[in-house]
Amino acid sequence: MPDCIFCKIIKGEIPTDKVYEDKAALAFLDISPVNKGHVLVIPKQHFETLLDLPDKVLHQTMKIVKKTAKAVMLALNADGFNISMNNFGAAGQIVSHVHFHVIPRFSKDGLKHWPGKEYKGNESKEIAKKISSKLH
Ligand code: 5GP
Ligand code: ZN
Repeated sequence: MPDCIFCKIIKGEIPTDKVYEDKAALAFLDISPVNKGHVLVIPKQHFETLLDLPDKVLHQTMKIVKKTAKAVMLALNADGFNISMNNFGAAGQIVSHVHFHVIPRFSKDGLKHWPGKEYKGNESKEIAKKISSKLH
């Protein structure tokens, strides 16, 4: 995709701090890390969101996400890690080339998790039923 920043990184047109590459995927440092050592893992083929990603490519990419998470833990002496993914603008996706964030976490890094909401009455049952009906 000509205008895609991550496609340009794959082609070497934009410099990046690469940490791993194979025929299907690339892992590189996020330019604006949540914690230092925050890595982005992307498939080399351009797809926009998780929903566009063929299962084979998902599997190839996820394998690298797992390998990277282990390397990040060891290299940064991290206490944990988050794998996150933003899909579509409403969820905070800025770069339209599917990517997984691998974020090292430290016991005292002060980052907060998302706040929880509350279900009222039968709401959870109704929502579970609705979602279930869309899963075939
Ligand atoms: P999103 O919000 O789309 O899930 O996250 C996109 C991520 O890509 C952001 O965390 C941002 O810092 C990172 N990013 C955007 N442009 C570049 C770039 O040119 N190089 C690198 N290494 N990371 C980038
Ligand atoms: Zn792309």
